[in-house]
Formats: sequence, structure tokens, C-alpha cells
Amino acid sequence: MVNYFPAFLDLQGRRCLVVGGGDIALRKVRLLSSAGAKLTIVAPEITHSLAAYAGECGHQLITREVFPSDVLGNWLVVSATGVPEVEAAVFRYASDAGIFCNGVDDMANCSYITPAIVDRGQVVVAISSGGAAPVLARKLRAQIEALLPVGLSTLATLAGDWRERVSRQLADLLSRRRFWESVFDGPAATHAIAGDTFSAEAIMAELLETSGNDQVGEAWLVGAGPGDPGLLTLKALQIMQAADVILHDRLVSDEVLGLARRDADLISVGKTPGCAANSQEEINELLVSLVSSGKRVCRLKGGDPFIFGRGAEEAEALSNAGHSFQVVPGITAAAGCAAYAGIPLTHRDLSQSVAFVTAHGKNSVDKLDWKSLANDKQTLAFYMAVRRFQDLMNNLLANGRSADTPIAIIENGTTPEQRVIRGTLGQLTLLADAHRVAAPAMLIIGEVAAINAAQQSRVPQSAQIYAKPDFKIAQ
Ligand code: SAH
Repeated sequence: MVNYFPAFLDLQGRRCLVVGGGDIALRKVRLLSSAGAKLTIVAPEITHSLAAYAGECGHQLITREVFPSDVLGNWLVVSATGVPEVEAAVFRYASDAGIFCNGVDDMANCSYITPAIVDRGQVVVAISSGGAAPVLARKLRAQIEALLPVGLSTLATLAGDWRERVSRQLADLLSRRRFWESVFDGPAATHAIAGDTFSAEAIMAELLETSGNDQVGEAWLVGAGPGDPGLLTLKALQIMQAADVILHDRLVSDEVLGLARRDADLISVGKTPGCAANSQEEINELLVSLVSSGKRVCRLKGGDPFIFGRGAEEAEALSNAGHSFQVVPGITAAAGCAAYAGIPLTHRDLSQSVAFVTAHGKNSVDKLDWKSLANDKQTLAFYMAVRRFQDLMNNLLANGRSADTPIAIIENGTTPEQRVIRGTLGQLTLLADAHRVAAPAMLIIGEVAAINAAQQSRVPQSAQIYAKPDFKIAQ
């Protein structure tokens, strides 16, 4: 499968060759002509309608078989003969000369393909499935057609007319970007799309007058959820698309980051276990300095920013620096992992409460109230526990939680790499060693961990590992 590079070509006044003299060739000639290309059309027979159209546009007609030298001097070649041997030959001539060639409906003889198009004047949306699923591309096109108002072309033309004026008045990139965002997100756009360019321009003039005076940065502390991009909130997505800078944790998945605005700066402030990484103080300083410089900063954190995410410290740093900010909650790993493993965190008969517990480092393990955590009929969801399994197990068993209490370890929860390992509390360390459990992983302890409602969820059964009953601690 080829990975195509998308681009829009400026064919104005450039020579292109069309091989073929029938209706399909005529369709291609019309398209290329509308982009301003100068065409040579070669075919032994040329229909009247094609000849007439070509004559009107001043294209050159050559009535004979195509020669290898015909491709020379052209920017693009289109072959629309419908004769496989001719298509293959034209493709070869073009490829030898280093010229892009499209064999119409003939993927084997294409070095470029043309997308399905939604046309709104200056705004053109091109959709391609890379040749894999043209029907899907057409379906998407129909959906996008319905989504984009016809008046979008008026808005785009207006924006084009104002571009120079705005660039002259607003010297820096950031204020220009802000100006255009207020135009496109506000009433100016609504008026332009409705065809009322007069009102739109009045609003734009007013916006331009006041622009550049309000270089205040903004900050959002946003939860990105545990991995599956489908678990992002709509608000998180909107902020990721508006932010100038996205300061993200290592745990935020590439799929999620792929949804950020294309020209946003992505800065990883990740902490990789065992590696040197930015200290929390450095992260706080960076966050504050970016906001102070007028940037809109999305601090994107795995799961929920206020659950073991040190979001509180960043919020405090922003407050101390006099910046206001918003917090957008995310689906925390316990909730996401449990759901994708088919485990209900509470259950009317089995568990009346759930505790989110961190087991990061010896200190936090020593500070926990093991006596109350060892009570039955409650669920424990342990974060950052992989290196602390032995301590957890010992403490819970010593305080009376039964060795038969069900457990589930969920590694890389909600991602395609998710593994769910089930067994009992007494088997915890053995299971973790046997299956080489690695971070990030959630440990869920409690009667509910034996439930597997995953038949209805999307976890493949192959990723579910059950400990055998005779899998016991060797003493
Ligand atoms: N703020 C985050 C937690 C950060 S602490 C939240 O609300 O989820 C990091 C810990 O979260 C990891 O050590 C692991 O225990 C857990 N975690 C995060 N993402 C996970 C995932 N996809 N699968 C399993 N555990 C995950």
C-alpha cells in the first residue's frame, strides 16, 4: 500500500498532456482546464465534443498514436485511453522522464492519484483513501458536503481580500492568528456565510482595531484519558485544536496527540520511569512562562489532571503567577481500564466503595491505612503499583484481606496493547513476574475483579489471561 503525500498543485499556465480522445479524456480536460493548465491532447481519434471544447480553450490537438517524446516538457500526464497496453506505455514514458502520471481508473499505472473533492471556492476539501476504498471516500465526501455551508466560499474570499491589510496592521504571527480565530469563530463568519459581507466587514474592522492589545495567555489543565482517543472529552478536543502549545505527559498516546492542531508546538515533559526527566518545578516554570508570553497553553495530562497527576501543583503555580486557568477532567485510568476489562468498580452486592490509591514509592506505601484498605466488600484501584506489588500484597494479607480476593492487572489499558491478567491476591507477585507486567498498569483488587463483562466490551478475549486455580505462591 502506498502512503500518498497530499498536495495541491498550481497548474496555472503549465503544460500538461492528456492521452485519449473519448468522454473520460474530456472530463479530465475540463478539470485540468479549470485549474488553468495548458493542454496537449493526443489520440488517434478525438470525439467532436472534446475537439470543440479543446478548441474553445486553445489547447493543442494531435491526432495520432502517442510517442514517448510526447510526455517531455509537461508537468503532469493523464492517460485516459482505457487501453491497458497504452496506459502502461504512457506510464513508462512519463516515469522514465520523471513526470507524474495518472492512468485513469488504473492504479497500477499511477504515480499520483486524484482525490474526491468538496469545492467551496477557495476552500477545497480533498478526500482520499489512497485507492483502498473509493466508495468510502465518496461516502465521506457526501458527509463533508452536508457539513460545510455553501457560503463558506464567501467567507474564504473575504478572508483572502483582508489578508494583506491584516498582515500590515498586525505584525506578529500570534496576534494575526488570534484575529483570524475571532473572525472564524464569531459573528463575522456567521454574517459572511449568510452572504452579508457588509456586516461581516464592519465586525472585522472593529476586531482589527482592538487586536494586538490583548496578548494575554491562557491555560487549561486537561485530562487526556487513559489512551484510547475515543475517550477524550469534546472539550479536551476543542482545546487541543485551539492551543498554541501543548505541554504533554509521556503517557499521552500518539493517537491522542495526532488530534492536536497541526501547527501547535508539542512539548513533551514526560517522566519515563528510571530516566532523567523534567522536574515538577521545571514543568511549572515552563507552563507559567509560556502563559506569561501570551501563549494559549494546553497542559495535557494522562487520565484526569487531578488524580495523581500533580495537577494541583501546576494550578497553584499558575495562580501564584496571577494567571487564571480552567481544568478539564478526563477519564481516569481506574475507570477506563476497569470498563475496558469488563470490571464494574462498584457492585450492589460485592462492593460498596472504591478507593483510588497510589503506591508510588516506599513512602506512600508506608503512609497508607492498610487496616481499612484490607476490609472486604470494597474495591481498591492502585495506580503506579508495578514495583510495589510485593509490599501491597504483604500489607493487605497481614491486615486480614483474604488471599483468595480476586485481582486484575490491566496493562496499557484502553489501548490496542491492553492486557488483562486475572487471579487472586495471593498470586499477585507470581502472576506479575510470570507475565512480565510493566508500567503503565492498574491493579484492581476486590470481589468485582472476578467479573468479566468484557463479552460486551471491546477487549479481545485473547488479551484476557486467567490464572489457573493451582497457580499458588511457592512457600
Ligand atoms: N492522572 C492519571 C494517573 C497518573 S499516574 C489518571 O487519572 O489516570 C500514572 C499511573 O496511572 C500509571 O502508573 C498507571 O498505574 C496508571 N495508568 C495510566 N494510564 C494507564 C493505562 N493506559 N493503563 C493502565 N494504567 C494506566
